[in-house]
Amino acid sequence: MAQARTDIGPPLYKEMLPPIIKENYGKWQYHEIVKPGVLVHVSETGAKLYTVRAGSPRLLSIHFIREICELADKYCDGFLRFTSRHNIEFLLSDETKIDPLITDLQERGIPVGGTGNSITNIVHTQGWVHCHTPATDASGIVKAVMDELFEHFTTMKLPAKMRIALACCLNMCGAVHCSDIAILGIHRTVPKIDHENISKLCEIPTLTASCPTAAIRPNPKLKSVDIKSERCMYCGNCYTMCPSVQIIDAKNDAVSIWVGGKISNSRIGPRFSRLAIPFLPNNPPRWPEVVDAVKHLVEVWAANAQPGERMAEWIDRISWEKFFEITGLQFTDKHIDDFTLAQTTFRSTTQFKW
Ligand code: SF4
Ligand code: SF4
Repeated sequence: MAQARTDIGPPLYKEMLPPIIKENYGKWQYHEIVKPGVLVHVSETGAKLYTVRAGSPRLLSIHFIREICELADKYCDGFLRFTSRHNIEFLLSDETKIDPLITDLQERGIPVGGTGNSITNIVHTQGWVHCHTPATDASGIVKAVMDELFEHFTTMKLPAKMRIALACCLNMCGAVHCSDIAILGIHRTVPKIDHENISKLCEIPTLTASCPTAAIRPNPKLKSVDIKSERCMYCGNCYTMCPSVQIIDAKNDAVSIWVGGKISNSRIGPRFSRLAIPFLPNNPPRWPEVVDAVKHLVEVWAANAQPGERMAEWIDRISWEKFFEITGLQFTDKHIDDFTLAQTTFRSTTQFKW
């Protein structure tokens, strides 16, 4: 009798590994960058696995997926993978196929790069394409930013790796907490309550429980809720539970920029990003203010960082205070994350001891 299938999750990844990886599992000794966009992993058995890394538009059409699968069939025995930053990696065991694959990719307009001291593909969230709580778009801004920074994808001329991320709200399903530069959509107003429909659409206990700051209280008279504005941090968590507390506010929603996040343990430990620019207008279709700000931060860091120094390490060396001086950014009350220490002067905040 056929067994009932109770687990419909993803198949075991080991079943999908290329033969060369299966054969050398646990035996890889080192890897290095052959040239921009090409890596080689070397096993203790002498086996070599080559990786050609290409950029992806992040939101992929079926047509595009078919196209890259055809390329994988032609050059890599059908094997490719996606990195967590949406790069496509073609995995080859035959070195002679590297250059023909690169030529094929470039003729199709698919860029090769994103390795070493470059700006790799920007990871982003879902934005207006799919999610219901975004304060801004995701792929639209990323396209505008990457159009300006594109040369850094295909070259490795920066002082160190530069990882950029975007999340379209602070629920943050992107990697904005751990990227060198992060673009974050922010709501700035208290949700608007639709008292008339709330009891038809939402469960009040679930809604009140959804607020991390206990700003929402039931209002039995109205069969609705009240929101204490002074407690609200505009996170939009309530709106994910209940469409009658609308967080999206086209006039006031904005974009903020964060810096110095890092996930690796190299040189210094992992770091959360810190607020650098609290407000930029949400200005589609090309978000010029955001593009200029990100480009400026990349340029100032590239001009001042020592070789190997990522954004967090550069700020560590020069100090958080100096960072604002060199970048010309304004330090505001929004940057203070310790109001007890800040009672006398902004300069006594922990921000300046980073
Ligand atoms: Fe939705 Fe926020 Fe994630 Fe964007 S970051 S996709 S708005 S939950
Ligand atoms: Fe609470 Fe966030 Fe909703 Fe404000 S936006 S009421 S903090 S859940």
